[in-house]
Amino acid sequence: MFSPSYFRELFQPNYCEKRIWLNANCPELAVKDIEFIEMVQEKGLSVEKAHVQTVGPIEEPEYPEGDMSSGFEETLRLINSKTPTIYQGVLISGDGKFTAIPDLLIINPKTNKYKIQEIKLATNVDNHPEIEYGVGLSKIIAEEILGYPPITEIVTGDGNLISPFNVPDKPDILVIINKINELENLEQEPIEPVGWSKCKECQYCDYCYGRAWDNRSICTISGIEKGMVRALWENGVNNWDEIINLGKDELYGVKFQHGSQIQRIGPTRGDKIFKQTECLVNGSFEKKSDLILPNGYQKGNRPIVIFDIENAVFDEFELYVDVYIWGLMTIVSGNKKEQNTVITPSGDQGDKEGWVQFLSTMNRIFETYGDIPIVHFSSHETTKINNYIDLYGDKGNIAKRVKENMWDLYRGILDTLILPVPSYGLKQVEKFVGFKRSQEEYGGSWSLVKYNQYLQAPDAETSNKILDEIKTYNAEDLLATYAVYTWLEENIC
Ligand code: SF4
Repeated sequence: MFSPSYFRELFQPNYCEKRIWLNANCPELAVKDIEFIEMVQEKGLSVEKAHVQTVGPIEEPEYPEGDMSSGFEETLRLINSKTPTIYQGVLISGDGKFTAIPDLLIINPKTNKYKIQEIKLATNVDNHPEIEYGVGLSKIIAEEILGYPPITEIVTGDGNLISPFNVPDKPDILVIINKINELENLEQEPIEPVGWSKCKECQYCDYCYGRAWDNRSICTISGIEKGMVRALWENGVNNWDEIINLGKDELYGVKFQHGSQIQRIGPTRGDKIFKQTECLVNGSFEKKSDLILPNGYQKGNRPIVIFDIENAVFDEFELYVDVYIWGLMTIVSGNKKEQNTVITPSGDQGDKEGWVQFLSTMNRIFETYGDIPIVHFSSHETTKINNYIDLYGDKGNIAKRVKENMWDLYRGILDTLILPVPSYGLKQVEKFVGFKRSQEEYGGSWSLVKYNQYLQAPDAETSNKILDEIKTYNAEDLLATYAVYTWLEENIC
């Protein structure tokens, strides 16, 4: 039976039709981050539990696990007896094709009508079409059973009620359901351009992106758009070598769909794509210009600070913090390094306390070494510093001084280099410069899971052990950034 969870497969982490086919036909290819999934489920349950406790007495249908028909019968009994609040009732459409388990069915004593209330972990449900379609499907089935369209509501992870929560119209929902059913039943895997930013969070990334990279697919050329890929495919250009064979002039003239318009790739975009492809084919980098190091530094000048933060990319984990690692490493001289990382403490005031500790650490570094370059990778750190200044202020103008000394290594690379990498993110660039990590598991969600474990550690010994792991993880990020910096000094200055 079709249930709301199918919409998630289509829309998250981003819209992809191929994922539906893979889930239905080759689920064994998925690489799942089990610890992260469990953490999300656990957080979801605690949000649900906290809200359910506020709605008064509830009744939950009792039925043997997995026996949806019995669950539906029991739910019907509760509905017919006008049970005020039904928790996790089972709904099945008359034709037996659709099912849904809305979190709450709540009766309005004035109208004697039920409404649907879903509890979501997300604190911001904008841009979550899977939630809209999922609640919409519950509404369609409930309307059939109740004889009227119930009001739909959402309670978000931070306890806000969105009422009514507007859902797509029935015909639009049915179009998507039909599409999903068709995709599942396709005989062959659908053709879908991969893309690093699109695929990197997807559980099929190793399979789809890995295969595309091995085949030197044009999809893996950094900067190429999906519409360009489709247009080039239509012209028989599938891999890096075929772009080179096509030649620049032909490439400029290729027309592609860009939003609602048809555009030519043109010389500006065409040159970028062509040069990027040449680097990929040759496996070597191209220097565009000299790199100007920060603070008037010359190659080999020290000290510098390497700065990298980790923040809760999902704002729905009740961690009460945004930035949970303020990663800092001072490179005093060639071999002398000091890790000054601040791990945000637990508690309601932890977020602010983490910021205060970060500023006081930076103040100490300035007092010891003066104004030295603070090297970071991408604009993320600057954005977060600005957010925290707005949130908690900048006592003593330390954050201002931090900002004045910050230098974006990512920008430096984009301005001066073309690299044979699928993306210019740190993880790809560090591999190119030959940096090797000592920890096997790394990634944004790994550190978030660890930080959550640290907050929930039962005793000081466990929490210190986890803290050490987090610091090692963070030190690797900092060392990776430093490795890229020194590589640039050697090769581009
Ligand atoms: S890896 Fe990319 S192409 Fe493959 S299913 Fe995921 S999003 Fe789609």
